[in-house]
Amino acid sequence: MRPPTIRFLGGVREIGGNKILIEDGPDRVLFDFGPSFSPRIEAYYVDYLQPRSTSLAKDLLEFDLIPRVSGLYAREALADGDLKYVAPEIHGIFVSHAHADHAGHLGIVDPEIPVHVGEGTRTLLEAIGTSTRMKYGDHPWRVFRDREPVRVGGIEVVPYPVDHSIPFAYGFLVRTSEGTIAYTGDFRHHGPRAADTHAFFEAVARERVDGLIIEGTRAGPDPRHNLSEEGVRSEVDGVLAREPNLALACTYPRDVDRLTTLHAAAADAERSLVVSTRTAHLLAQVSPKFPTGTVPVPGTSEHLRVYARKKRVSYLWERPYLEDALSAEEVRAAGRKYVLALDLAHFAELIDLRPPRESPFIHSMSEPFSEDDVDDKVMHNWLDHFGVRFHQMHASGHASGPELLALLRTAGARTVYPVHTEHPEAFAPAGPSVRSPELNTPYPIGASTP
Ligand SMILES: [Zn+2]
Repeated sequence: MRPPTIRFLGGVREIGGNKILIEDGPDRVLFDFGPSFSPRIEAYYVDYLQPRSTSLAKDLLEFDLIPRVSGLYAREALADGDLKYVAPEIHGIFVSHAHADHAGHLGIVDPEIPVHVGEGTRTLLEAIGTSTRMKYGDHPWRVFRDREPVRVGGIEVVPYPVDHSIPFAYGFLVRTSEGTIAYTGDFRHHGPRAADTHAFFEAVARERVDGLIIEGTRAGPDPRHNLSEEGVRSEVDGVLAREPNLALACTYPRDVDRLTTLHAAAADAERSLVVSTRTAHLLAQVSPKFPTGTVPVPGTSEHLRVYARKKRVSYLWERPYLEDALSAEEVRAAGRKYVLALDLAHFAELIDLRPPRESPFIHSMSEPFSEDDVDDKVMHNWLDHFGVRFHQMHASGHASGPELLALLRTAGARTVYPVHTEHPEAFAPAGPSVRSPELNTPYPIGASTP
């Protein structure tokens, strides 16, 4: 019989877009299924020109922006394209976490294929699906529990929680007929749940895995400075202690740790964190999954308020949060009392908020990779126009290059496959076990591996 194999259908020499297929006899399981952040997609599809909702998979397949796999896509998404619909040939998809580059293509997957997620990820996907245009489709959702094995045919998958910039992120041990593979998903080991990441890597070492598929977002040259979550907290404290006026901040929309950090810092400075209805909805949905009092809850927690943007219509899901929401005029009149979370997409609110000159803007996200980043230019044009002062304060969701190499030394995998990185060559110091994968090439698992 053919040995089980790993095949990389995405996430090769690019950040995001991991699509890892493990095949063992008749069993085929996919790990993660989202679009990459690669500029290749933007060569065809940009803001004003998007795949048609009536033929999403067909329109992406036209430019090889998704893999040509039969028995994976929904009949409707394939429409009348040249890849014909066949009944499911993939028996399950495991999603490591709810970031778009890992889950964002679930909407074009055949609705008969079961999707396995952690309980918290299921909640996050539901909250995102309700409050944004992102759609994940209907599937038989299978909720797994921490460290409890799940069987798909002859393949056994054990999910381990890891720390990342979105809660409920997982790495996996995948036991096949010939050996075990570990897949890290996205992770860091300096965050509030660092112990989870360490426990996962201990399990990887104990298992003596045949292959380790490891993310390398920050591998290679990375001049951007990075703090720990406590480091972000103390720098935010410093800014708020000096600041007599409104403070502005922006974070990744699902970074619950950072929102919690900003909320705690605001409360200690006798301010309230003011968030969008979308963030309020997210916090309301996920807070019950955390120990009481750790994640702020809209309408219940002190020092948390909601901001009402000027809009002609509000959605049904927003209405409960808008009842006691603050207008631009209210925030402007008492700026000293607030830290307002404001995304770039909503910067037009600054025209009404008119923050006093020298007000701080806390950018609590990654610095851009490239110097000619358009969004970054637009952001600075607006901040300069209003005379707002920019502060960079971020703790990354990913392990650094040196941390990755240190982890590999203890993991003891026979073969290491770097994914989710533009610099697989940066793993070379880890030795001959590193194998930079090629797209759509089967790599055998087990003792017979050359
Ligand atoms: Zn991620």
